[in-house]
Amino acid sequence: MNNRLYKYYPEDFGELKVDVLHMDLTFDIYDDRTNVKSVLRVRTKDEPIEKLELNCKDLEIRAVSCFQSEVSYRYRKDDAILEISFRDLIPPNTEIAVITDTVCRPTKNILEGLYYDETPAGAPPQQITQCQQWGFQRIVPCIDDMTAKCTYRTTIIADSRYTNLITNGDVAVERHTVKPGRDKIVYDNSVTPMATYLFFLGVGTYAAFKREFEYPDGSTFMLELLVPPDSDARAAEKALDILHDCVMWVYVFTGPEQYDEDRLAIRQLMWDLVRRREKLKIEAKPRPGQGEDELGGDGQVGKREGQGERAGEGKGERAGEGEGEGERAGEGERAGEGERAGEGQELRKIRDELSRLDRNITPGYRYTGTVYREIGMQNSDFGGMENVGNTTITTNRIMPFPQITDPAFEYMIRVKVHEYYHNQNGSEVTGRSPFEIWLNEAVTVHIEEQYHAFLFGEDYQRLQRVLDLLAPASGTFALDSGAASMPIIPDGFNDPNDLITAVTYVKSPEYVRMVESLTGKDTFVRGLDRYFKKFQHSNASTQDWIEAMEEESGVALKEISETWLRQTKFPVVEVSAEYDKLTGKFTFFLKQHFPAGGKPWEFPFRAALVDESGKDIVEVLERVSGETAEILIENVGMPSFLSLNRGYSFYGKLVYRASQEELLMQVRKDSDIVGRFTAFYTFVDREKLRLLRVPGSAPSEDFIELYYRLLNDRQLLERAGGQFLTIFESVEDEEFAHHYQALYDVKQKLLKAVAGKYRSSLISAYNFFENASVPRDGSLEETARVIKSRQAKNICLGVLATLDAPDIHALIKQQFETATCTTDRLSAFAAYLNSSAPDKIEVLRAFEAESKKNLIAWEAFLSVIGSNSSVDAVELVREMERSDAFRIEQTNDQRALYGSFARNRKKSLETEEGRVLFAEVLRKLAPVNEYTTVNLLNAFANIDQMEIKYHIPLVKILADLLAELDPQKYPSVYNRIRKLLLGAPAAVEAYGIVQGKIPALQT
Ligand SMILES: [Zn+2]
Repeated sequence: MNNRLYKYYPEDFGELKVDVLHMDLTFDIYDDRTNVKSVLRVRTKDEPIEKLELNCKDLEIRAVSCFQSEVSYRYRKDDAILEISFRDLIPPNTEIAVITDTVCRPTKNILEGLYYDETPAGAPPQQITQCQQWGFQRIVPCIDDMTAKCTYRTTIIADSRYTNLITNGDVAVERHTVKPGRDKIVYDNSVTPMATYLFFLGVGTYAAFKREFEYPDGSTFMLELLVPPDSDARAAEKALDILHDCVMWVYVFTGPEQYDEDRLAIRQLMWDLVRRREKLKIEAKPRPGQGEDELGGDGQVGKREGQGERAGEGKGERAGEGEGEGERAGEGERAGEGERAGEGQELRKIRDELSRLDRNITPGYRYTGTVYREIGMQNSDFGGMENVGNTTITTNRIMPFPQITDPAFEYMIRVKVHEYYHNQNGSEVTGRSPFEIWLNEAVTVHIEEQYHAFLFGEDYQRLQRVLDLLAPASGTFALDSGAASMPIIPDGFNDPNDLITAVTYVKSPEYVRMVESLTGKDTFVRGLDRYFKKFQHSNASTQDWIEAMEEESGVALKEISETWLRQTKFPVVEVSAEYDKLTGKFTFFLKQHFPAGGKPWEFPFRAALVDESGKDIVEVLERVSGETAEILIENVGMPSFLSLNRGYSFYGKLVYRASQEELLMQVRKDSDIVGRFTAFYTFVDREKLRLLRVPGSAPSEDFIELYYRLLNDRQLLERAGGQFLTIFESVEDEEFAHHYQALYDVKQKLLKAVAGKYRSSLISAYNFFENASVPRDGSLEETARVIKSRQAKNICLGVLATLDAPDIHALIKQQFETATCTTDRLSAFAAYLNSSAPDKIEVLRAFEAESKKNLIAWEAFLSVIGSNSSVDAVELVREMERSDAFRIEQTNDQRALYGSFARNRKKSLETEEGRVLFAEVLRKLAPVNEYTTVNLLNAFANIDQMEIKYHIPLVKILADLLAELDPQKYPSVYNRIRKLLLGAPAAVEAYGIVQGKIPALQT
């Protein structure tokens, strides 16, 4: 046993010995196996080579040869390396072709390489790939490295019954039948040399929906959606509308000049004209999906991949790109068909206008392929994956199914724009190694957030992010300060999936946002543009990105970046202030706490002095460095309150001992939404702490009044959403921060006090928001407004539910029974489940039976069960796992039931029956899915901070698992457990005294 905490370190990712040029792949796909013949062309560098090592995981090797030399080979299975030795030394700068013939076998639970996805009834087995990060070596021997970018030509031969045979690139040879029951298709991917992790292959049975995407200059490509055969056509059309808008928004509203005020009006006009144009186009002809492209009701072949492209506009588009004249003619024809003359004229006018406006802006990314496809994957560790031209998205979030919840709907919009934007940031410009995954993700999330804000409003978007940061258990600060925390660029990792965490997806975008604040928005987007241009079709390192930003801005970023990227946790900044009335001088004093042995962070600090009417006296944005800092503001009047860390300008926490009066004033009057919320958060935090410290004490009138006032601030809730009223089951004080049941009880107590005093006002607020959440039209902006109102309505319901009285049970049940959307239904169900209503078990049974019939509904149902707070919570989880509808190899089931149960720490960690179940779940799940298991384990991130009585039982769960698990087979789970135990030295010591030392922790 060695003492390494990680399997991989940066030195494992050196320069490649050869340049990878091209892969010629032939996939002969059968139900239980796939034969892969590969011709891998590489060129030696300045050194001769006698050996070549290819990554090769769990493959059967049938033959290995080389055009240029006799070879022998050795398959080092445990290292996942195919070692090829050449009889003759291969000279420097020489191209060789290595031919391999191998077999891979898909499984249902290893969701990497080629695997089985959900198969529609009566269809041949659905098979898809997932290559991020090292799935490609499970498919074919290769150099599985982010810098091994090459072109591909891929042939697929498979069962003729599949509706779609897909891989990256454009169709080179149309699909045709080679022998009875077997079809063949060839793709060419030579426009964008592609890293191996972006490879995609899928053979499956889908319903295909298409939509033409037309740029303002008239060039087009095809948007395609592949979803389960029985999918609702209207939902699919809506999904394509949403995707269309994402792609158009990236083009019109991003890019190096996106903040140019003078051109903003042009961009907005283009956006409006495009909407008008699309409306006219749709009115002019039957929408695809309702006409020729739709599948028959039996779910069998409507149209096949390749054939569809031939019959459709695929080839024409490509030829048309960049040749304005040719396209125009094509459009003329389209417009002429079945369209009234007047409309045709209007369409032409809009197109001319768009084309003229287009020449006046510098747009954002423009797609380079002929088809951009989104493919539903039912079973996946990830929500989405950008496989160049073939984005996969978890099926339950790919389109606005009637069963989709509001958060899932928002996720759907975000994942679509996110994966699409990866075309530029990630696929064209790729990080150099897994240590640069953050680079692919941070800017992509940053853009995704801009789009979310474009639809939902800046305030709502930013507040949602702040809630992500602060949430207990699943929140970013919780993860980043717990025992499982890793820096954005870690020292090492066990599996690249270890890097797919909130640190990569939330903390690193926050770092990027700080860089944006320090350089200025205008400069930031120009810097990005410089970076994209410089590294197009190649790989970039962290330093490359920082240097591009420095060159553009002249702002020094290396040092600040080093701390943010390499150090875990975040600054906790204590702020105090002084005001000299005589001189009008105001001074902020900042003192930051940072980890022992670490360095202080450097960050942008935005703050304002505000008067009693809520007007800013002055706002400052300062770059703060060093352990202590002073910010002096001269010639100002005395502020009534301070608005600190505005817009959450830095990633960290702030401690300022404002008086209760100041906080109350800030909650009501600050013009900055984050300021308002953090004041509320602090006020409530103090209230919770007081209740925890003094058992039996009652919530204060100040709190009750404040909460009631906010609930009646319609303007606030319409802007920021009901989420503004979030009260977490958490408290900042370390003494009580991990007393989960007590924290739950305190929250209930607070809400019950509000409900007790304002029962009837709450019911009228409930009715108000109920009316406000009826949509007036089908636009996305309207959907955004409705989602915010619905949040407020369900907050009212949740507060009322704490009364646990018969009339409230009736109200909840009424919402449950009459709800027209899933979020309302689930909110009511969750409230009912936690109540003492006599018929709750009957309601549960009926809802269970209904939810089982649909995978999306089932996922949502399971997650309510996993997080429920009733006395029989653990038994309910057990019951659902025994259900015939629960499938442990399905990640949605794992995440929904086990994930929410793990985070339900008052049950999973603080009760005996919960711990027994949790231990069983971990033991069962580790061999099925390591990634989900590791995520569940994060519930143990704070053992030492929990009450002492839990220390030994919790360490025992982890120690027992360590003793059972094979570290070679399950390195991520094994090493995560060790990391968690090393992060809980007090509990481990207490355990050691009673049970003996844990062997796996000894060196
Ligand atoms: Zn991503």
